[in-house]
Amino acid sequence: MRLNKMYLDGALKTLSERREQNKRLENTRRSEILKKIPEYEKLEAELALTMNEVISLALDKSALTEEKVNAAFEKNQAIRQKMNDLFEKNGYPADYLEPIFTCPKCRDKGNTGSEWCECLCRLTNEMAAAELNQNAPLAKSRFDNFDLNRYPDETPKKESVSPREIMRDNFEYCKKFSEDFRGEGSGVLMMGSTGLGKTHLSLGIANVLIKKGFCVVYGSVPELIRKIQDQQFGRADGDILSLATSCDLLILDDLGAENSTDWCVSMLYEIINTRQNRRLPLIINTNLDFDELRDKYQDRLSSRMFSMKILFFEGYDNRIEFSENFKQ
Ligand SMILES: [Zn+2]
Repeated sequence: MRLNKMYLDGALKTLSERREQNKRLENTRRSEILKKIPEYEKLEAELALTMNEVISLALDKSALTEEKVNAAFEKNQAIRQKMNDLFEKNGYPADYLEPIFTCPKCRDKGNTGSEWCECLCRLTNEMAAAELNQNAPLAKSRFDNFDLNRYPDETPKKESVSPREIMRDNFEYCKKFSEDFRGEGSGVLMMGSTGLGKTHLSLGIANVLIKKGFCVVYGSVPELIRKIQDQQFGRADGDILSLATSCDLLILDDLGAENSTDWCVSMLYEIINTRQNRRLPLIINTNLDFDELRDKYQDRLSSRMFSMKILFFEGYDNRIEFSENFKQ
């Protein structure tokens, strides 16, 4: 995952807050131990003394003998053992007072020597994604308020299942997708007319994954393409393209509503192809049918989409139904 430099200051501030928070937790734990196990403080002082002995021995080479080093080492080990026994007796893990790091790899500093740590890159990308997602109706689109009763229960003539049954399967598939999500795989193509719940279920997935700490980017295709275009032609700062090709899950909503230009089609190909090559999952929502997708995006792009899991959305337009109900 790449570092998104626009958000570096904000991400470093978050790391500094994490360090302070962890320090506070360390202090709280120490106070707790000193209160519950008063003899611990004495052992801690004794341990410090043996450490001083070892240091003095190392500095004064003339007094340094193997016996003295071994004796100091054994004393040190014996005190540590007593400390461990006390912890165990009182139901604490042996590392209860060790320093706490949210990212042990960089000890919450954000770099590992000469390189930015992955935790910092992830933070900058999450901040960029949050800014991009701020217009998405995330809070309103959850699994727990997805209403299957909005879909007709009658099975149409010539069909074997009702729209509600189809949508129940789609709903279960999306819930399982979010439960099993590990940040790799191909993804889902959601097909069906406007207002049948494609955005709702995609954002339902996004809500679960964001809570789990995954970096999810949602964008309606016309808006996303316009922003990438502005950045590529120097009209705006940022690097949405690299975010779209490297985040844990990308949701491309309303594919087909964008202007059909060669530039646009090749940009979409670049995003979808790069993600599929990197095995990064993708959700695409579209009102277009197979023939329209093939016409608009030619074989090389449409075949990539058709290789994904396809969910068909059936029923009435939820938004029309909702606004009709609302008027009554
Ligand atoms: Zn780190």
